[in-house]
Amino acid sequence: MLTVASWNMNQRKDAWAHLEDLARAHDIRLALLQEAKRPNETLAGWQVQPPPSDEARWRLSVPRFFKTKDGKLEETRRWFCSAIASTGDLQVEAREPLELHEAPDGTFACSHPGQFAVANVKLDDERVLTVVSLYGIWDRMEDSGQIYPEATLHRAVSDLTSVFQHASSEYVLVGGDLNIYSYSDGSVWGDRGMTVLSRLAAYGLEICGPLRPEHEARLERCPCPDTSCRHVHTYLHQSKPENRPHQLDFFLATPALRDRLQSSWADPDPTWWTHSDHRPIFASFDI
Ligand SMILES: [Zn+2]
Repeated sequence: MLTVASWNMNQRKDAWAHLEDLARAHDIRLALLQEAKRPNETLAGWQVQPPPSDEARWRLSVPRFFKTKDGKLEETRRWFCSAIASTGDLQVEAREPLELHEAPDGTFACSHPGQFAVANVKLDDERVLTVVSLYGIWDRMEDSGQIYPEATLHRAVSDLTSVFQHASSEYVLVGGDLNIYSYSDGSVWGDRGMTVLSRLAAYGLEICGPLRPEHEARLERCPCPDTSCRHVHTYLHQSKPENRPHQLDFFLATPALRDRLQSSWADPDPTWWTHSDHRPIFASFDI
């Protein structure tokens, strides 16, 4: 049995200490992390990708610049990235892309370094589980200033195509904060966000959790119009309980891996929003 976590750490250094608590409480051996700050030192008993010593990689380095209010260009301040942490005797091998403009033709490339992390986990039966920690980076409209995540997510899916189509891709797990904020809220922006899910479905990747049990009442104040809504609250804007609940965090898996899913749940800790604006999610697989 393998239990995997996915968690947006909200760029908090102390989130690494909390990850250890989560690992103990939920028997986690693998964690797919987003908005992760570089840990100070190698955590005892954990292997982390990117390596904590490689400071430059703990950054979303593209777009390289941002415009200040007075129109000046400054270097990005996104000193965080997607990461994969594993513990115990799990054999985890990172698959590292090169930045798109540097990658030789036909090799694994990334448009936004740090947006996703990919690793192969060797299973006991010699099969391979490919895991992807994925983050929807916000883009901002020049006219209205409104933000949208699907453009950078589609770039990530393009970059990850060679992973999803690889001969060893029987078991693929994508976990992350997709930031599809207007997820099925009935607006055209919501529809555009949903194209990310339909595109991932073309590679066999469909949401496998966490979703609330069918008999449970729907998520109170969920922005989606779905009468059979099964969303789980995973995001609280600015960690303020008065704000509307959203589900931004999901696991998606290939059919063979979905067949192996035992359960998927969100952190039952009622104070989860004190550790990050995102709630940790978990999935256990019989592999
Ligand atoms: Zn809903």
